Amino acid sequence: MIKTSYISKTVQELKPSGIRKFFDLAANMEGVVSLGVGEPDFVTSWSAREAAINSLEMGHTSYTANAGMLELREEIAHYMKSRFHVSYDPEEEIIVTVGASQGIDIALRTILNPGEEIIVVEPCFVAYAPIVTMAGGVPVTVQALPENDFKIKAEQIEELITPKTKALFICSPNNPTGTQLGKSDLEAIAEVVIKHDLLVISDEIYAELVYDEGYTSFAAIDGILERTILLNGFSKAFAMTGWRLGFVCAPKEISQAMLKVHQYAIMCAPTMAQYAALEALQHGMSDVEDMRSSYRRRRNYIVKSFNEIGLDCHKPGGAFYAFPSIRKTGLSSQEFAERLLLEEKVAVVPGDVFGESGEGHIRCSYASSMEQLQEAIKRISRFMERFN
Ligand code: PMP
Repeated sequence: MIKTSYISKTVQELKPSGIRKFFDLAANMEGVVSLGVGEPDFVTSWSAREAAINSLEMGHTSYTANAGMLELREEIAHYMKSRFHVSYDPEEEIIVTVGASQGIDIALRTILNPGEEIIVVEPCFVAYAPIVTMAGGVPVTVQALPENDFKIKAEQIEELITPKTKALFICSPNNPTGTQLGKSDLEAIAEVVIKHDLLVISDEIYAELVYDEGYTSFAAIDGILERTILLNGFSKAFAMTGWRLGFVCAPKEISQAMLKVHQYAIMCAPTMAQYAALEALQHGMSDVEDMRSSYRRRRNYIVKSFNEIGLDCHKPGGAFYAFPSIRKTGLSSQEFAERLLLEEKVAVVPGDVFGESGEGHIRCSYASSMEQLQEAIKRISRFMERFN
């Protein structure tokens, strides 16, 4: 008999991800159209795949430097400078990680003392608060509101700052809302961060997937670079989720501290994936452009369609999620998602799993073929007729 006490209290108390439940339900049904998954529907470019194959053929099967291959870090530094106007020293300020996910983990484990607080802007990626907790910190959540198109206001953040606040965790464009914060939004937040001497963890994994405005990196705001830990990676922009490759950029002192956690926990990111990423950065930017255009078309279609069938939907500036309101139906987001799946076989994610202000909404990933999106809209439209 395995005793519960074998498992740490912290882990016992973690709630399983609310997204999983719907995947499991949908997996046992036939004919489901899924808008549930948060990953690109593209396959990684052939040239990146070939670079990984070549690296294996050449026998590059050993560890790389802990921080990742220097050649890759140099390419990342060049990419960050040319695309986002932020300068990082490839020798000391960039670490190649196992996805942005591992970047989140090492960032939090590096900065947190027990009981210190991290302000987490919700709705957000479901991993943030649990990783804060696992790193011994306390997540303090603040709600970006639908009436502000899910843009967080600097004043809302400031109200929650206590002597224990260590950092602000922010993500733009956002999962699940698709909301992109513009330069002036970031400047207002930066002012609060500087005034209260906080760090910022800025998840910029969707930076390449913006459709209306150029992208402003948080680290590019005046005076904030030295207090920013910037997370990015290859999963979304380069359609490389399965390669598990990301990177984290931060000032030298923080990076070198993160490197200690990284080297003991995982040694280095997978070597063949690093070769693929190097090729993607060197020759893959036109593929990124093509994917961006394709997502933009699909975003336009799905947002227009939702509004036409009575699901109010703000126009998300980036990522590949629409986050329409389902309030009109009088159902909770869990009820809506469950009934939509059982009655019309469309899988979406209930908004409440991403945070309190996500209630009344559903997350629909439009990283699906146009045919699948059209079929989903047909079914959701039929479902909505029940509430007229
Ligand atoms: N941050 C956000 C906002 C995400 O949506 C995801 C993936 N769903 C991640 C981080 C993790 O990405 P990776 O595959 O690079 O670990």
